[in-house]
Amino acid sequence: MRSVRMRAELDGMHVSGAERVIPHYELEKVVMELLKRPKRYDKIVITIERVENLETIPKSLPIKSHDFADVEQAHEFVIKKLKEIGIEESITQKALKLLTEGPNPKGGNMRGAVLMDPVSGERLEPDQERGIRNTRIDWRNSTAIKEALRERGIKKFYLERLIDALAIATKNIHCGVIAEICWSDDPEYTTGYIASKEFGYIRIKPMKEEHTPTGGRVYFVKRESLQELIECLERKVMLIEQLL
Ligand code: AMP
Repeated sequence: MRSVRMRAELDGMHVSGAERVIPHYELEKVVMELLKRPKRYDKIVITIERVENLETIPKSLPIKSHDFADVEQAHEFVIKKLKEIGIEESITQKALKLLTEGPNPKGGNMRGAVLMDPVSGERLEPDQERGIRNTRIDWRNSTAIKEALRERGIKKFYLERLIDALAIATKNIHCGVIAEICWSDDPEYTTGYIASKEFGYIRIKPMKEEHTPTGGRVYFVKRESLQELIECLERKVMLIEQLL
């Protein structure tokens, strides 16, 4: 098997990224697909690695969807769900504010995720501009998963993002992340999600106002097992077998 990762930049800014874990004979096809992903770029980096140890996750998190009239109501729902699993409102508010304002201390977005202590709200990621990048995760058969999602009524507009985000969230929870809050930095894409072992993957719309360029991910994590967790998120290669 091979791990294939793509990242693209435009005017020095990260504009697109993707992850695949595939059999070696699909390499050429997948590299071509990844090359076509970013609409515009002035630099693209594609990394290919041989996979030594592959772990499998039998099933993804279950998917639910909720639409709200506005961002305020959507965020109230996030606060309520996280309270159910023991995260205080003030901590969730802090995470929501961070993503609304842009979590990078230099302004704007990060490349990876914020790691947050669910008790103190302290940021635990070693580099607050980069964050933690969740890599080396894919579906055993992404074509079949896409087809299954389409049959469940997921529209084409959401499909590509959902399949990538669900894989990331499933790996996170498998590695020991307690809960995740996410929305895109794409100004036109306002659907985000929360995820946890207890409530699965909940798609939420709208997590942010339209035409706003900030977004990101906050992972609530136990500080005692921080190093192991980072190692799992960034280094372990995993394949998800099926959609739940
Ligand atoms: P996206 O859903 O691709 O628009 O990404 C939204 C935000 O999530 C980005 O601004 C990053 O902060 C973060 N992010 C994107 N990809 C990853 C990843 N693989 N691991 C961790 N965080 C990520």
